[in-house]
Amino acid sequence: MTSSHPWSLTISQAHHLLANKQLSAIELTKSVLERIKHTDSKLKSFITVTEEYALQSAAKADSMISNGEQTMLTGIPFQAKDNICTNSIATTCASKMLENFVPNYDATAVTKLKSKGAVLLGKGNLDEFAMGSSTENSVFFPTKNPHDLNTVPGGSSGGPAASVSAEQCLFSIGSDTGGSVRQPASFCGVVGLKPTYGRVSRYGLVAFASSLDQIGPLTKNVQDTAFVLEAIAGKDPKDSTSNAEDVPAYSDYLDGNVKGIKIGVPKEYFIDGMESDVANTIRTSIKTMEELGAEISEVSLPHTSHALAVYYIIAPAEASSNLSRYDGVKFGYSDLDSTDVWDALEKTRQHGFGPEVKRRILLGTYALSSGYYDAYYLKAQQVRSLIRQDFVKVFNDVDIVIAPSTPTVAFPLGDKISDPVQMYLNDIFTIPANIAGIPAISIPAGLIKNMPIGMQLMGPHHSEKTLLRVAYAYEQASNHGFLKPSIQE
Ligand code: GLN
Repeated sequence: MTSSHPWSLTISQAHHLLANKQLSAIELTKSVLERIKHTDSKLKSFITVTEEYALQSAAKADSMISNGEQTMLTGIPFQAKDNICTNSIATTCASKMLENFVPNYDATAVTKLKSKGAVLLGKGNLDEFAMGSSTENSVFFPTKNPHDLNTVPGGSSGGPAASVSAEQCLFSIGSDTGGSVRQPASFCGVVGLKPTYGRVSRYGLVAFASSLDQIGPLTKNVQDTAFVLEAIAGKDPKDSTSNAEDVPAYSDYLDGNVKGIKIGVPKEYFIDGMESDVANTIRTSIKTMEELGAEISEVSLPHTSHALAVYYIIAPAEASSNLSRYDGVKFGYSDLDSTDVWDALEKTRQHGFGPEVKRRILLGTYALSSGYYDAYYLKAQQVRSLIRQDFVKVFNDVDIVIAPSTPTVAFPLGDKISDPVQMYLNDIFTIPANIAGIPAISIPAGLIKNMPIGMQLMGPHHSEKTLLRVAYAYEQASNHGFLKPSIQE
């Protein structure tokens, strides 16, 4: 055993203690479960805790270790966002519609983690069907930000970000359709990566907007993100959009060296209306990169200002189609108090979905309806190409671009929930990467009045190696690293 609490370890620290038999997977899992018990009544980051299952998996991990079959993730306790299917464990999407849905299969990302011996602890809270930026759209309860319990953790992966931040798990996996891994990572002071579209299989991720959805890790540091990505990335015959490109050993590229790397600063990401403290913090981070030997230059992504509008047409359009499967017949909630099949369908959807999900379905159906399709959906697809082209052009000149992850730090609970447009504006810096399908990582850049803020690195398709390398070099050079909250047990 170690003198400090095992729950406070990073993946690599825990891995070494497990390898040297100074800690067992059971001890580590028990410690993390205790931490959850002591903190989650305040935080509410878990929808389900699978204590018994976690202890069984930890026992299996201990035998893997004794048999010489240890991988980097063997015995490492993790959480999965509750829109990622887990065999025999409820997967609710924080919606009444799926409140009692228990899948009989695992998402590929979960299968891969389990095969490496990682220990599933339970399921993380989210905005209903991953639609939102504060986790207040969960039908169950809002999650709190561990840095200040009166503020939101961000969303939609608010449960995952809050639980990594409060050290209730060593890592979590979330989903990012328009920023849902990076925005909460920024608000909670942890690392969050949205991989290249197709890098991680979407099989078993409950579909929101299929051309944008991607699963990604949330961790305490950059090295841990590399370890998790290595484990979950790769071609999957069950997801035709998954990419066949080889999965490199991402962690091998973390050498702290960024000399000669060309980093572009897009001027459209430093805009009027963003908090000056945020811009200043990111500018300080850029200076740190420059001191490390990176070559910094200003670049332009001229169509950035349209990204939000494009996203809020394409994502709802795809959502309206994906969510048509919830008809009360095949699976999920069903309103039986009805006179005929149409009445049942109407009531099921009326009572099964919350207000934000209904808003998206209405927006999407409208944008796709005949007569409006050309004006909205088609136009949005055309502008999507222009946004993609912006990135292609910029990456002819620079290796990666750097920007804030979010325009503000975490805001108070209740502040934006009644104003959808204010809520949508949170995603302004994260959405372009989803639209272009490129990878992007948010890493802690510092604190503003005691609240974390993230900086974002974006690169061309399959540039995760470079992103992680630069992020790691910055993390080593900056004087903060993981921004531990002061949440008490
Ligand atoms: N906040 C964005 C939305 O509400 C992004 C959500 C996501 O990435 N899942 O759609």
